[in-house]
Amino acid sequence: MARDTTQLAVLGAGPGGYAAAFYAADLGMQVTLVDEEKNPGGVCLYRGCIPSKALLHVAKVIDEARHASAWGVSFGEPTLDIDKLRSYKQSVVDKLTGGVGQVAKMRKVKFIQGRATLTSPQSMKIAGASGETELQFEHCILATGSSPTRVSSLALDSPRMMDSTSGLELPDVPASLLVVGGGYIGLELGTVYATLGSKVSVVEMTAGLLPGVDRDLVSVLQKRLETLFSRIMLNTKVVKVAEEKNGIRVTFESGGAGDRRGGPSGPPSEEVFDRVLVAVGRRPNSEIPGLETTAVKVDAKGFIETDGQRRTAEATIFAIGDVAGEPMLAHKASHEARVAVEAIQGHRAVFEPLAIPAVVFTDPEIAWTGLTEAQAQAEGRDIEIAKFPWAAIGRAITIDRPDGVTKLVLDKKTGRILGVGIAGSGAGELIAEGTLAIEMGTTAEDLKMTIHPHPTLSETLMESAEVFFGQSTHVYKPKRK
Ligand code: FAD
Ligand code: NAD
Repeated sequence: MARDTTQLAVLGAGPGGYAAAFYAADLGMQVTLVDEEKNPGGVCLYRGCIPSKALLHVAKVIDEARHASAWGVSFGEPTLDIDKLRSYKQSVVDKLTGGVGQVAKMRKVKFIQGRATLTSPQSMKIAGASGETELQFEHCILATGSSPTRVSSLALDSPRMMDSTSGLELPDVPASLLVVGGGYIGLELGTVYATLGSKVSVVEMTAGLLPGVDRDLVSVLQKRLETLFSRIMLNTKVVKVAEEKNGIRVTFESGGAGDRRGGPSGPPSEEVFDRVLVAVGRRPNSEIPGLETTAVKVDAKGFIETDGQRRTAEATIFAIGDVAGEPMLAHKASHEARVAVEAIQGHRAVFEPLAIPAVVFTDPEIAWTGLTEAQAQAEGRDIEIAKFPWAAIGRAITIDRPDGVTKLVLDKKTGRILGVGIAGSGAGELIAEGTLAIEMGTTAEDLKMTIHPHPTLSETLMESAEVFFGQSTHVYKPKRK
């Protein structure tokens, strides 16, 4: 067995782990990064954020090409070369993971490919293709990420059953697809398959899509999804799945409000689908082999417990990213990475963001940051909402996408921006301004007085601030006295 020592071992090379390793190397530490994959990248680059966004980009182009006939330009119905599409997506993944691997080398971060087992609070064993390595470390950052949640009623060993990983492999474009779970993954991948030509049905067990997101934002998306998807079933559960010769027979149980047509709850209904995609959440990968040789604690939901510096109950071990708590988002993992590294270096760093942006990359996109309206109300805050409809802004009309809304959640007395929500085409690119505004303690007055370029969708942020004062240029809505 090979023996090695390092100052910092990082276990898991996703956007949490590789960001930590690179930053620590930049600060002068000797770093070893461990992952089972050939290159750093983790779920995000290999089977999450990146491949899904490559496919969503293609879906957007197809959608625009179809819609172009309304502008007097006809391309004809797109023809699909699925092998080429798959290899385009793979090339995107390879380019990025290979690139991150190169950057690791340039920074002199030692990358070991293999599966790690902790053997003590200061050592681990790594089983790789070229044998075993015993690695002694001064500190370790656990960044082992998360995996799809499995549900017993949906456990069926069949190639027709997919999770996000197999769904992203794009085995084919099934004639019919049932998506179980109306969250991020279900709606993003449902959008891809529906645009490529599948008849997509979505089943969501709660009363609305994207639980936790403000309803006025979701309704903008839902209107469009109702034309893209063949059915959206809310308050409905899948109670059984069974393989048949021609597909998966799915048994539903409606909990009350029925489907999108608002029908009454009925007896369980059945339908056969070519494929079923299960996207009902993710669980933290905290069952790290050998974790019991340390004092690290795991909470009831399976997340590794950490303090504000991301230190676990074991003084030498830190945890970041999906394994260390929600929201399970790549940029939250990378930010925690920097805090943990600084804490290891003895700096007074702490993870206390006022706002973590979130984006659902559907069409339209939904993005929010800081407090949602629902959260602010639940906390009993004295707030005011200022909303600006995209139908009133030039840029949205020029791109023929007036179906959007930008809203600010403001402290009623001071006008301080507490949250921002945007539904609309490209909302994900706009939300960063909201996060900066919240982090800087900006008020509606500041945003109103900041000159925004014309014609852009970013003007909707400025005009929302003007709405707060009853002075929006493009919306006549005087302030109530
Ligand atoms: P991960 O990226 O999960 O990486 C963990 C790594 O640890 C893996 O490579 C794993 O192989 C390795 N590992 C685990 N255990 C061991 C072990 N014992 N030995 C060796 N290696 C080990 N987030 C966004 O912000 N934006 C998006 O658009 C987005 N899209 C997504 C789309 C999909 C389909 C999915 C599934 C997720 C998406 N996410 C998105 C979430 C995002 O991927 C995660 O939040 C992010 O990857 C978490 O990063 P991480 O560093 O915590 O762990
Ligand atoms: P999710 O939590 O976003 O959505 C899961 C949905 O499934 C919820 O609406 C839930 O009510 C529903 N559900 C749960 N059990 C069900 C059942 N038995 N039947 C029907 N519906 C059920 O989870 P996800 O879509 O699997 O994504 C996992 C996580 O990955 C996300 O929460 C997010 O953190 C991350 N992610 C982020 C992005 C992004 O940033 N754009 C994209 C994909 C994934």
